[in-house]
Amino acid sequence: MTEKNDREWQYTVTAHDAVDERHHGSINIPIYQTSLFAFETYDKFQEATKQSQTHHVYSRGNNPTVRYLEDKLAELEHAEMAKCFASGMAAISAAILSSVKAGDHIVCVDQAYGPTRTFVTQYLKRFDIESTLVDGSQMDNIRSALRPETKLIYLESPTSMLFQLQDLKACAELARSRGIVTIADNSWATPVFQRPLELGINLVVHSVTKYISGQSDSVAGVVLGSERLISRIADEEYMLFGGIMTAHTAALVTRCLRTLPLRMERHERSALKVATHMAGHPYVVRVNYPALPSHPQYELGLKQMNGSSGLFSFESAESPEKMREWAGKLKLFKIGVSWGGFESLVIVNPAFAACAAEAHSLIRLHIGLESVDDLIRDLDQAWAQVSDLQM
Ligand SMILES: *Cc1c(COP(=O)(O)O)cnc(C)c1O
Repeated sequence: MTEKNDREWQYTVTAHDAVDERHHGSINIPIYQTSLFAFETYDKFQEATKQSQTHHVYSRGNNPTVRYLEDKLAELEHAEMAKCFASGMAAISAAILSSVKAGDHIVCVDQAYGPTRTFVTQYLKRFDIESTLVDGSQMDNIRSALRPETKLIYLESPTSMLFQLQDLKACAELARSRGIVTIADNSWATPVFQRPLELGINLVVHSVTKYISGQSDSVAGVVLGSERLISRIADEEYMLFGGIMTAHTAALVTRCLRTLPLRMERHERSALKVATHMAGHPYVVRVNYPALPSHPQYELGLKQMNGSSGLFSFESAESPEKMREWAGKLKLFKIGVSWGGFESLVIVNPAFAACAAEAHSLIRLHIGLESVDDLIRDLDQAWAQVSDLQM
């Protein structure tokens, strides 16, 4: 067998399962389309209800199809345990709520996913939970934002608009020395390229909607970590809020997982090629992609990741109006939110606050699984159509 950190090991984990006689040797996990599980005797029923995380009683708590996916994801992320949720936000809000109580304070990266920031800085205020947003690319910013009542440091590395990194190991060490929990959103890198738990982070969250699903057909999430932390989330936030993943979604995502390492390697190769191409264009001021040596945190990226996915942004001195016109001329890139699927996407974010001084627009590209040469030709033909426009 290959080593546990080897990319080849990931191929075996995602492609191989032991024959399970409970499922007649079915090589795909069956879809357990059931709300409850019944028992022949009252004793067996009582025994199961006492251990509802390992036994099957009710699908809001535990379903075999969902459990199968949870175990696979935990193995890939090197976690003791995983819990799958109805969406990335269901997973993120559950992980955060499991870490804080009234009177606590949260330090969160200022470029974290928008709804995560809204949840932390606005929604939690009504429960008397305060927060500070920081530029997480500098450890000093995180350190100086800590208060005696800080109970959580929320990270997302890289962030998904400007692709800023946080030093995950240093954050985890700082937090541990003060009894603070750390959560990292690992949706961009996936366990194929980054495993924050190995760097000391307590909880990893994913929008499974993105790369882990990869087919743009499911909305899903997961929280991973130690058995102690995850079983508490399973008993509390999972059971009490009920934002569960259905057996159908779990079966779809399990199917997608088979090709995760394969897809990630393709996204990486193509994105690096497109990002390098874009960096040479006169209308591009800066490309934000951790795999380019021009990225200010390139070295940190090499240290804590072993690859880069297919999402990056570039900043342009052209107006957002002109770049939207350009986006409209693209034939292979579709205009849309989200990312991580087979399809290439573009979105123009006007006058984004953190653009370089000379830039006026921020354009985010998701590089899908199409021919990379076709994608580059598409970007260039669209520019040829709008380059002379005065707008
Ligand atoms: C999309 C996204 C989320 C939220 O996931 P959903 O599945 O849409 O709820 C969280 N974090 C990041 C980085 C995302 O891109």
